[in-house]
Amino acid sequence: MNYDSADRLSAVYPSGLSQEELAAILSEEPLYRAKQAFAWFSRGVSSFEKMTNLPVTLRERLAQNFGGSVRSSVVQNEFSDKDGSLKLQIRLRDGASVECVLLEDIEGRKTACLSSQVGCAMGCAFCKTGTLGFLRNLGPDEIVEQFHHLQERRGFISNVVFMGMGEPLLNLENVRKSISILSHPAGIGLSMRKITISTSGIVPAILDLAKNGPNVRLAVSLTSANPDLRTELMPVNRKWPLDDLKSALLEYQQDTNARITFEVVLLGGLNVGEKDAIELVNWITPIKSQVNLIAWNPIDGMPFKTPSVRQIEEFSRILSDNGIVTVRRMSRGRGVMAACGQLGDTLSICNLALEPSNTMIKRGND
Ligand code: SF4
Repeated sequence: MNYDSADRLSAVYPSGLSQEELAAILSEEPLYRAKQAFAWFSRGVSSFEKMTNLPVTLRERLAQNFGGSVRSSVVQNEFSDKDGSLKLQIRLRDGASVECVLLEDIEGRKTACLSSQVGCAMGCAFCKTGTLGFLRNLGPDEIVEQFHHLQERRGFISNVVFMGMGEPLLNLENVRKSISILSHPAGIGLSMRKITISTSGIVPAILDLAKNGPNVRLAVSLTSANPDLRTELMPVNRKWPLDDLKSALLEYQQDTNARITFEVVLLGGLNVGEKDAIELVNWITPIKSQVNLIAWNPIDGMPFKTPSVRQIEEFSRILSDNGIVTVRRMSRGRGVMAACGQLGDTLSICNLALEPSNTMIKRGND
């Protein structure tokens, strides 16, 4: 597998264009016009008519240039959970669908959980998206627009995590571009420190990120420090085993001096024992890190179970007693299958979207 299998979808929709690309399209206009247009598009304007500081003739030209459409995607369905989470099913230009989620914590901080691919090739055994297989990479416009759709419904969003559908480091080029748009000071201006890329452990791309940025937060889905169990749960471990992953992370840390977050999905009876915790401590200790413990979120048809609160507490205690910064992550979005590992109700191109559950609040505009 080529680690950067980005299929370089041409960003024909303005939400995926950089300021420089817009300047090239608007080369006959003064540069400040491209800057104005970029500010509108990157902040998520929904139509050309709303770009009111541009002359009407220029708005018409832009509309013509982009086939009359500011966005390449539409919201198909919306699902809202009691805990405040919102999941959107989004239909893409070719009829494929992806999901994104807005999570709100008890302090009211909003985080957009974005997808980077339609489906996923990694096949992690505990993840619903992994059962879909890989369909294609998302373009930068399709990634940025997930943020815009969520923002339109829930207002200011301060954080972004690439933890939705797909392995972001297998679409690094388009993820990079979407981050440069979302963090651009003329647009949304998200802080790099509030953006997290989560990977299953694509070693060459971790090294690429270390050398070439962006300098965002890195999270690694580890799940187990036992080589056999990790291979069983996360097939990525065959190609890039734990030793290679650790070397890459130490190199990443040398270059960036950044703390790494490890995500550990706890599966009842599988990786929550004392031996598992000690193995994890030993593996993680040389790396400056934090461990997020996530109790597995139930998915129909999967042979795992959620561990008991006591098991999680004991696991967490062993890590903490051994000097590992440990956070037990609250599961949010379970009621609408929006929690970690649960995305994938929409089987995209095949139009096999499941019937919306009774938590659906609105049918979209498609
Ligand atoms: S956990 Fe992430 S990398 Fe693994 S199958 Fe699911 S989406 Fe893909």
